[in-house]
Amino acid sequence: MADDDRLRTVDEHLALVLDGIGTIDPIELTLLDAQGLLLAENVRSDFPLPSFDNSAMDGYAIRAIDTREASAQEPVSLRVVGDIAAGASSRSGMGPGLAMRIMTGAPIPAGADAVVPVEDTDRGMAKVAIRRPVHTGQFLRRAGEDLAAGSPALAAGAALGPQQLALLAAIGRDRVTVRPRPRVIILSTGSELIEVGQRPSFGEVIDSNSYMIAAAAKDAGADARRVGIVTDDHAKLLDALESQLLRADVLVTTGGVSMGAYDVVKEALSELGTVEFTQVAMQPGKPQGFGHLGNKIPIFCLPGNPVSSLVSFEAFVRPAIRKLLGKRSLQRATVKATALEGASSPFGVRQYRRGVLHRESAGGYSVSFVGGPGSHLLASLALSNCLVIVDEETTEVVSGTEVTVLPLLLSNR
Ligand code: AMP
Ligand code: MG
Repeated sequence: MADDDRLRTVDEHLALVLDGIGTIDPIELTLLDAQGLLLAENVRSDFPLPSFDNSAMDGYAIRAIDTREASAQEPVSLRVVGDIAAGASSRSGMGPGLAMRIMTGAPIPAGADAVVPVEDTDRGMAKVAIRRPVHTGQFLRRAGEDLAAGSPALAAGAALGPQQLALLAAIGRDRVTVRPRPRVIILSTGSELIEVGQRPSFGEVIDSNSYMIAAAAKDAGADARRVGIVTDDHAKLLDALESQLLRADVLVTTGGVSMGAYDVVKEALSELGTVEFTQVAMQPGKPQGFGHLGNKIPIFCLPGNPVSSLVSFEAFVRPAIRKLLGKRSLQRATVKATALEGASSPFGVRQYRRGVLHRESAGGYSVSFVGGPGSHLLASLALSNCLVIVDEETTEVVSGTEVTVLPLLLSNR
């Protein structure tokens, strides 16, 4: 915290949060479970790729020297002494002046040093006519030309997408050691909350935050789990958190961090001394709690209003999840867009407004605001596809000028 009484900035709070995020031990996963994760080992191949010399074309395996005199007028005729299909398990061989019919991917017979594609021949079965000279190595895929035996295939830190998973499979790895998805446990607090599926009585509110935050955490790459609702009760909250500690890499609560008389998250966790409650110069999302429980499990205590909760998640929890995943870029990429309307914003506060980002047909983006300042406005939140960031210095967004936008794109991980 700054020594004057100004609020902590978003960047200061984020730096503090990230400082409190450690690492998770790597685990071994099967290939498709490892998709989207970062490799935590250097992978070498035990064998070469391709593992045997093979044909790049359907055609005839021949000796290049035998075709030296070939021309369209006087084709060279070679006797065809066999057929080799892909998957042929024994290595065949052939002598000078001979040819073997060969399919793409089939092993090159001993004695052959080139392949003539079928379309450059008369497609003969007993004898084949070749109309032009072939150079040694033509249409031949050499063992190890892709990857030599023992050489590095992928380095620790590589992101595992389809291309990388293909290579791992090709070199015989069905499991790899990766940085795991952090297990994020989400807990909603509030005595007014009920589960979705129940009909709210007067004064009751259906818990929507845990769905929103679980979805956002999953989208950020976490293995997210909601554990439901805890009433505003000191002991019950501590029990609920305690019971999750062994299952969590990150805990997230929503609600109960403001100045109200029943803001139990703040009351109960402040006493432990390992979770700090502070005010950040942002709107919405001013009250924030962050610290550790149990064996250094990070806990985020986000404000309960849905918009505040999501903005807080984007500002602090998402980068923390990305850090645990080992990702280098922790923040979403922002884009510049032309504001289609004006807005005012308090000085010294970073304001996040919900927006609708449009891609202009002429190129570039424009953005309109959606929903008012109220952080309880879920319907307009659901219409938005981005957050417009109005920085601390800006007090007036003028229509037609450029603003910074955080597109809330789905990762479709
Ligand atoms: P709090 O931060 O606990 O003071 O809650 C602020 C506002 O957000 C209140 O109107 C709550 O009813 C609402 N709220 C808190 N938690 C949730 C939740 N899990 N789902 C939907 N609304 C919530
Ligand atoms: Mg509450």
